Amino acid sequence: MTRLLLDSVFPSKLAERRQVIDCEVQIKNFARLTEIVQSDLAVLPAEKRPAKWQQIPVAVRLSFDFGTLGKSVPLLKGEVSTTLVGVCQRCLEACSLPLKTTLRYLLIPLGADAIEYEDYEIWELAEKTMRPIELLDEALIMAMPFSVFHRSIEECGPLVQEFSPAAGKMARPFAGLRAQLKDLK
Ligand SMILES: [Zn+2]
Repeated sequence: MTRLLLDSVFPSKLAERRQVIDCEVQIKNFARLTEIVQSDLAVLPAEKRPAKWQQIPVAVRLSFDFGTLGKSVPLLKGEVSTTLVGVCQRCLEACSLPLKTTLRYLLIPLGADAIEYEDYEIWELAEKTMRPIELLDEALIMAMPFSVFHRSIEECGPLVQEFSPAAGKMARPFAGLRAQLKDLK
């Protein structure tokens, strides 16, 4: 089934038979995402880079169909989720966070008139065939946050812990305020 993601396929044929693709592939199959992660992690010394991150699984569920737009416009719907690794912009250590996006695309020929259909986005096809992995690659990149952080300051590495010992407190500057207000009453 992964071949339907990686190979060139005719989306209209997949829509015709209402193909569902439900599989898991590794990050390394996503060429541009891999490149972005690689250059992000490149700032870390080799021993601090997450091992074998290229093998992190990406769960994919896609379905092809024709909507009510007729047989010239295949629709692609689905969901893709994985774990993104990157460099935390607070402590400059590797960190990971969930990355997930939903897909709703109208597959139309390059240069064709734009169509509006529900909340679908347009994906232009240069040829009659496409490699679904390329669309997923771009969708995941679009879903990436602008910068990556550990989910909480407590998870951050020594750079943050050492240089701002009060970081935990400072993150909640109003923590004591409520108690003080109570005292005033
Ligand atoms: Zn951090």
